[in-house]
Amino acid sequence: MKPDNSEEQPKKPPSLQDILANAMKSAVDYGSTKAGLETKTCSNCGAARPADTNLQFCDYCNNPFY
Ligand SMILES: [Zn+2]
Repeated sequence: MKPDNSEEQPKKPPSLQDILANAMKSAVDYGSTKAGLETKTCSNCGAARPADTNLQFCDYCNNPFY
């Protein structure tokens, strides 16, 4: 009698590490958009100016920050 082995190769569930890495990634992405209320943002396009730069103009649309 032959057993029915149609599911001989079950899918491996994602490892805990994969899940954590994924969560970290999305958390970082989410955090970067909301990081620091002090971050200057372009009044024209809303792009955030990196805090540790002396950019005078928006990197994306060249709108002056000041
Ligand atoms: Zn801009």
